[in-house]
Amino acid sequence: MSDKIERVKTLIIGSGPAGYTAAIYAARADLKPVMYTGMEPGGQLTTTTEVDNFPGYPEGIDGPTMMVQLQQQAERFGTEVRIGMITSVEFSKEKGGIHKVVADGEKQIEAETIIISTGASAKYLNIPSEQRLRGGGVSACAVCDGFFYKGQDVAIVGAGDTAAEEASYLANICNKVTMLVRRDEMRASKAMQHRVHSLKNIDVRYNTEVDEILGEQVVEGLRMVNNQTGEKEEIAITGIFIAIGHKPNTDIFKGQLDMDETGYLITQGKSTKTNLPGVFASGDAQDKEYRQAVTAAGSGCMAALDAERYLASIGSVEEAIADKY
Ligand SMILES: Cc1cc2nc3c(=O)[nH]c(=O)nc-3n(C[C@H](O)[C@H](O)[C@H](O)COP(=O)(O)OP(=O)(O)OC[C@H]3O[C@@H](n4cnc5c(N)ncnc54)[C@H](O)[C@@H]3O)c2cc1C
Repeated sequence: MSDKIERVKTLIIGSGPAGYTAAIYAARADLKPVMYTGMEPGGQLTTTTEVDNFPGYPEGIDGPTMMVQLQQQAERFGTEVRIGMITSVEFSKEKGGIHKVVADGEKQIEAETIIISTGASAKYLNIPSEQRLRGGGVSACAVCDGFFYKGQDVAIVGAGDTAAEEASYLANICNKVTMLVRRDEMRASKAMQHRVHSLKNIDVRYNTEVDEILGEQVVEGLRMVNNQTGEKEEIAITGIFIAIGHKPNTDIFKGQLDMDETGYLITQGKSTKTNLPGVFASGDAQDKEYRQAVTAAGSGCMAALDAERYLASIGSVEEAIADKY
């Protein structure tokens, strides 16, 4: 460990839409935010080609470009962006207490406020054809990418409420949706199952798994296998949606911050406050419901406002942020 300990007013962990929006607001409020980008600078949107639903881009924008622009906007107001990981944290339980974090296993930082925006990672099947075709017809977000398959035949893998909801969403847009359910029943609620079965263009295949996604550059088909009989079948599709769950990137906060059984951070009421004073959570790390760039950005804004108000309440900054806007 290096012995020189750096002190910052606001430390932002994560560089997706939530982190950069928090950075823009915090920097404009003169909180001199320091951001650690983590292992995926720019976050999940850097893995997608086309973002069509973020307000302000009438022609759409590719994810990596959007995230570079967000970074530039945050840096314009003085955010210090550092490539690196926060590897451990020791949060204070006291109002006005100092939070201690370690970056990259060695650099010690003390922060008056922490904004967590570490996001969530979609779970994938982890078969080679899926990894090869990510962005070429394999997606983990039907709400984000479904529109690109309007009128086409697609498949979806999953059996929970999210999978059922996404299958219904796709059924409204696409010609036909083949839904692969690994077991002989869905985990989704009865109401969601009923909705899926009521839609004529969803073909639910039970006891069925992906054997291979077909296509070289883009998805052209799917080979399914019945896990009871071993029987294989190929269908033509142009897109496949993996809806087998997300994992929030919150392991390093375990034991210190309240989280639900899947690891999503719990925030208080409509705020971004966690159970510890001066620690705020934004974006997908605390939102299993919406998981969109615009909602992540909105909660990043809220986290910066909450952080600034907290600092004002402990006398660390003079004015509330509201006075500055
Ligand atoms: C393929 C795909 C396409 C999508 N398309 C769209 C779309 O078209 N429209 C839309 O609105 N949404 C889309 N989404 C969803 C959107 O990307 C997410 O909702 C959004 O990125 C969440 O933002 P976030 O800031 O909460 O987290 P993320 O974008 O997940 O970013 C998390 C950040 O935290 C960092 N991090 C994690 N752990 C640490 C650590 N220990 N230390 C430091 N940093 C850390 C990571 O490196 C990353 O920078 C898509 C998602 C995927 C996967």
